[in-house]
Amino acid sequence: MSFRSELVGSFSTGSEQNPTVVMMDAAFAHEELDWRYVNCEVQPDDLAAAVAGARAMGWRGFNCSLPHKQTVIELIDELSPTAAITAAVNCVVGTDAGWVGHNTDGVGFAASVEDHLELDGCRLLILGAGGAAHAIGVEVALRGAANVLVANRTGARADALAELIDDRTPASADVWRWPAPPAALELPADVDLVVQATPVGMAPATEASLAVAWDRLRPGTVVADVVPNPPMTRFLGEAAAHGAVVVDGTGMLVNQAAENIRLWAGIAVDRVVLRRALEGAFAGS
Ligand code: NDP
Repeated sequence: MSFRSELVGSFSTGSEQNPTVVMMDAAFAHEELDWRYVNCEVQPDDLAAAVAGARAMGWRGFNCSLPHKQTVIELIDELSPTAAITAAVNCVVGTDAGWVGHNTDGVGFAASVEDHLELDGCRLLILGAGGAAHAIGVEVALRGAANVLVANRTGARADALAELIDDRTPASADVWRWPAPPAALELPADVDLVVQATPVGMAPATEASLAVAWDRLRPGTVVADVVPNPPMTRFLGEAAAHGAVVVDGTGMLVNQAAENIRLWAGIAVDRVVLRRALEGAFAGS
């Protein structure tokens, strides 16, 4: 019998809006693990102290959310390939060699679309060029995508992400034109996967959506959204109405949480338990 639980947690600001703890609590209870996930509010100036504290207390690892995904890198010891290329870490794992930083957002995304599409050889269009787009674009490129197109409101960020993927992964990447409002984004004819990787459509602004000329969508194209709440965004609703196979952002969140637990505890957690906990939290929010 041990009276000491294993500790993991999260360092972010705006932590009261972060639902991950709900999934972790449900997973630990379901797997009968004596683990605790501590959701901590940590300001940028305090991150180094928080990481040192986690190390001193023998935490098994921690998640980093905004605004620490980049700055945590200088406080840890090693990076996974995706974390190194994206220069962003959302999951840190304690190992004998020290803290290892991973980017599990891309892994979570890949796991959520893999049932519908073979990523090896696929052609991807990403709408957005921020943190989520970087994680997804790099992960899908590392899994063998043939080509990645990046479209973003601020053209310079699309250029930078396309250049990063082109230079640092085996996939080729190009910029796809973002239209001046009120024009709608034209879809390329030959993409297999379209990903909405901006916050547009997130609750409470659920009526918002990127303007897309859906008439060129090939039926059966996989269309995914990173927004987890609501799961069926207006963007996904429009895509489904034009024959797309849609994948919601809840799956990405669930799968990245499952990947975090796999990295920390070495177990494959039941994802239905995670999804149920997350949906319960969103329903109550
Ligand atoms: P960033 O701030 O890094 O990037 C935001 C991106 O969205 C930029 O490309 C930005 O374009 C674009 N954007 C923002 N507002 C608009 C708008 N009104 N019209 C067009 N483009 C817009 O954010 P993240 O990439 O970190 O997060 C994006 C979303 O992904 C969030 O909603 C987040 O919750 C979600 N997310 C979901 C995860 C999941 O597991 N489901 C995991 C991680 C993130 P520009 O460069 O022009 O400003």
